[in-house]
Amino acid sequence: MQYGNIDFDTYLKNYPDGEGYFGKYGGSFIPKELQEAMDEITQAYFTICKSSKFVSELRRIRKEFQGRPTPVSYLERLSGKLGNVQLYVKREDLNHTGAHKLNHCMGEALLAKYMGKKKVIAETGAGQHGVALATAAAYFGLACDIYMGAVDIKKQAPNVARMKILGANVIEVTDGLQTLKEAVDAAFMAYSREYKDAIYCIGSVVGPHPFPMMVRDFQSVVGIEAREQFIEMTGELPDAVVACVGGGSNAMGMFAGFLNDPVEIYGVEPLGRGPALGDHAASLSYGSEGVMHGFNSIMLKDENGDPAPVYSVASGLDYPSSGPEHAFLHDLGRVKYDVVSDDETIDAFFELSRMEGIIPAIESSHAVAYAMKLARQMEKGSILINLSGRGDKDMDYIIEKYGIR
Ligand SMILES: *Cc1c(COP(=O)(O)O)cnc(C)c1O
Repeated sequence: MQYGNIDFDTYLKNYPDGEGYFGKYGGSFIPKELQEAMDEITQAYFTICKSSKFVSELRRIRKEFQGRPTPVSYLERLSGKLGNVQLYVKREDLNHTGAHKLNHCMGEALLAKYMGKKKVIAETGAGQHGVALATAAAYFGLACDIYMGAVDIKKQAPNVARMKILGANVIEVTDGLQTLKEAVDAAFMAYSREYKDAIYCIGSVVGPHPFPMMVRDFQSVVGIEAREQFIEMTGELPDAVVACVGGGSNAMGMFAGFLNDPVEIYGVEPLGRGPALGDHAASLSYGSEGVMHGFNSIMLKDENGDPAPVYSVASGLDYPSSGPEHAFLHDLGRVKYDVVSDDETIDAFFELSRMEGIIPAIESSHAVAYAMKLARQMEKGSILINLSGRGDKDMDYIIEKYGIR
């Protein structure tokens, strides 16, 4: 399918280019020592991850350990309530550990094993990426160092406990604001010291090349499965596909399956409390071009041009930029990016729980909220939502902040 001047028949093979660029976005903006390590990962990715041995081992792990393929469910009662549009969800909430993140963590950790590395290193904010990576490290018998801000460690006690039970080393970062940004810096520092024995595992389709490509490719299993399942269930393609966008990995995985189809694609960003800077984390909707964390993309900046403080009710969406491929698809117009507020999100959280018996993650509830709005506008057709994760991790927060409705 041709879109703009891009041929989507060959898109996934041609983007990013050899330097990691999606148009002007992406690339690798890191110190020399780290560039050597990234080049080693890129090299290993193209030789090891494309080998039939790696591919078949990852397939077996997905089936036997992760529980893939995850199903697609038809939302019969919610669809009926909203009108004539049929809603479906891809159930990444049923993936082992309760979200899509394990899809790329298992891939990254399997690559580490093939490369002969003994350790995986990462940062985590809310702890979801740390838990997924600690799970993968335990499965493969790798050491696991997770860097986490001291403030986040206090806020996310259950995830810290999970990581420790899984055998990971949680390393407290006490610089600056003691949250995600400082944790990223500390993890990169550690990696530049240890890259001979360790591999850095990023948590989304962000960071320097090859991570945005590699994480997309590992996550594309979501979109590939969902497309096949949807056609088998209904005999046709969905009219629209919807996913929430933080860094953008669950969305890119889903979108990868449908970019070459006549399907409307929507990425949903968190509007939080409103459009004022500091009240939301909708980087593609309100941001501008800039470099952070080693890549060029669209980001939210403060008055000095540094990454701005951001806010969302969903801690997994609380990031001042998004992956470079989203910035590219945004400019191209192939994917439409829009926002939903905290309030709309919490309504959708309860709606899906009560109407369908599925408690969604607050992140995923953004996609559900947007699909519900879209369903009210469309006269007919179908919408496939990527339900990136389950809401068990959010229940205490919801009860405390919103109570039972
Ligand atoms: C981390 C997380 C997200 C956001 O990350 P993306 O890279 O944007 O997918 C979304 N949903 C859930 C359940 C998460 O844990």
